[in-house]
Amino acid sequence: MTKVYLKRKIAQRIANGHPWIFANEVEKVLGEVKAGDIVDVFYADEKFCGRGYINPKSQILVRLLTRKKEEINEAFFYNRIAEAWQYRQKIGYTENCRLIFGEADEMPALIIDKFNDYFVIQTLSLGMDVWKHAITKALQDIFSPKGIFERNDVPVRELEGLAQQKGFLSAPFDTNIIINENGLRFHVDIENGQKTGYFLDQQDNRRAIRHIVNGADVLGAFTYTGTFEIHAAHYGAKSVLGLDISENAVAQANKNAQLNGLDKICKFEALNAFDVLKQWGKDGRQYDVVMLDPPAFTKSRENIQKAITGYKEINLRGMKLVKNGGFLVTSSCTNLVQPDLFLEIIEMAAKDARKKIRQVTFQAQASDHPIVWGMENTNYLKFLIVEVRDR
Ligand code: SAH
Repeated sequence: MTKVYLKRKIAQRIANGHPWIFANEVEKVLGEVKAGDIVDVFYADEKFCGRGYINPKSQILVRLLTRKKEEINEAFFYNRIAEAWQYRQKIGYTENCRLIFGEADEMPALIIDKFNDYFVIQTLSLGMDVWKHAITKALQDIFSPKGIFERNDVPVRELEGLAQQKGFLSAPFDTNIIINENGLRFHVDIENGQKTGYFLDQQDNRRAIRHIVNGADVLGAFTYTGTFEIHAAHYGAKSVLGLDISENAVAQANKNAQLNGLDKICKFEALNAFDVLKQWGKDGRQYDVVMLDPPAFTKSRENIQKAITGYKEINLRGMKLVKNGGFLVTSSCTNLVQPDLFLEIIEMAAKDARKKIRQVTFQAQASDHPIVWGMENTNYLKFLIVEVRDR
């Protein structure tokens, strides 16, 4: 097996358990380097570090799969997936869950979402893509699912020299499915929805709005398929308006409102939230609750300022629409903005909007997307509710 030796001044990060090894952290490689192969990694003093897959095309030369000298084969993948499923069951996520959350499940660059009897997978690196068959087989053996679908239509794969693609990994099935969440039902379009079709990471946060929306006039921006808005209506909101820039998302949101018999209360419109929130602020519109769940404004560290500006701007506009004593419900899904920074941004937005805020709730993504300390990219979702008052 090819041997990779780390530089003496190796980042403490790897010793502490982080699985990524960048090319510039490697002193030398003994043996053939074939993209996707399993290699052994050693510290400079020749002590065994771990075993993982290599890809010279990627900035991340090696991603470690294990710190043990165990064989990487079909059984390895079966066991890892079975363990991850046991863990999800233990912490109370059974019907729908993120079954594999990449690095947090020691399966770097692998995402598997379980939507009751259906599975959606993403293999985001070459070294993981090589094992797609083993992963699919493990899912078949453990779950006997109704269907498995690949959503590898993701640009990040190109950094690995992989093509973007999507399609069935099982016998074909109807990719428009329905899932249950918090007593509500939602259509999920596995084939054409965003990411894997549905944002499971907000499943617990959607319950957190329960009390504040009762009897309220609610505005939700970045609604996607209307999940937060439909929860609001279910929890007793008087009126709910949801906005998304995508016509397709709005159509799905309307379908979801009908599915739950809440289409009298929930209305959705295809609009650019940045434009209309600004205009409605000028017009003096007011809501009891404003909810924001924008996309990650950047994917790269170089553009972090762009994300900060975007979050500040949209939260400022959102706050201006909240009645005195009402609530802002706001999220951020990029790991590049860590929780402390997000709170600072909200504080700046409140200052500029001339509002006083009090924290009601501050939490992360649902626990089926575990946070591993020391792996910043696993701590990515911020969900905040604040009470908003005039200064
Ligand atoms: N709240 C949703 C997820 C939102 S994802 C849920 O829990 O399921 C972010 C959404 O923002 C996407 O649907 C995207 O279409 C939408 N979006 C992006 N830019 C927008 C803009 N300028 N105005 C309105 N919506 C926008």
